[in-house]
Amino acid sequence: MTTLTFLGTGGGRFATIYQVRGTGGIYLKDGVNVHIDPGPGALVHMARLKMDPAKTDAIIISHCHPDHYTDAEVLLEGMTRGGLKKRGTLIGSKTALEGENGHGPAISRYHHGLPERAMVVGKGDRFNIGALDVDVLGTKHSDPSGVGFKFNTSAGAMCYMSDTEMDSEVTAQHKGARVLILALTRPLHSRVPQHLCTEDAANIAKEIRPEMVLLTHFGAKLIYEGVGKQAQYIERESGVRTVAAEDLMTVHLGRGIRFSGKRGEGQDEMLDEGIDPAQLD
Ligand SMILES: [Zn+2]
Repeated sequence: MTTLTFLGTGGGRFATIYQVRGTGGIYLKDGVNVHIDPGPGALVHMARLKMDPAKTDAIIISHCHPDHYTDAEVLLEGMTRGGLKKRGTLIGSKTALEGENGHGPAISRYHHGLPERAMVVGKGDRFNIGALDVDVLGTKHSDPSGVGFKFNTSAGAMCYMSDTEMDSEVTAQHKGARVLILALTRPLHSRVPQHLCTEDAANIAKEIRPEMVLLTHFGAKLIYEGVGKQAQYIERESGVRTVAAEDLMTVHLGRGIRFSGKRGEGQDEMLDEGIDPAQLD
């Protein structure tokens, strides 16, 4: 059984600043435990679910934006049992691990040295975490070193596109995905450069035709306008089953796909009166 737990489904600047939804990334279990993009709140949400960071086998950072990396150093200390045991793997974009073009690094030299293995990856690379093989895919985003991933799990290919704008070359790399996770930052009629909007997600779903599209990384404006509405549009346009992930939700991938978990309290309560969420992204 392969499971995916969403330690947050918010993303972009304002959903992160105000924690409109959590931003702790995705935790993949498939014989090994892999924490993907541990942004702000990853530790807090793990604690709420009684998940032990010391059981993590790998931490993966797709690119050097804070909604994808800020809890990574403390999680590295967790994975290495307080830095006392050299174990586990750290994978990341060049920007996240070493710094490049004014981005990063996100990880201090001290923390970089803690795990058994630390690897910078780029498009076209392949690595493994135990028996789990992972292909590294390209993105088109404001961090030029940003990457996505295809996890070749025991339940089929699970692709994570990470932050990108729609691009035919990026999309093509996700062919063969059973489950496609899209970082949907912007709602209908609100396209901006560097990110996916709902119309883009529908086109990508139509092209790839996975068994299911999972939506996450919702920006504040999108949350305000309604997450479910975006999922319905994508499903109707593409004919592909589309589910908007919820904070602390777990997806179980076996022969079928089922869900468990519940939403945290106070989700989606909007921001201070002085802030107009419709103006945010
Ligand atoms: Zn980003």
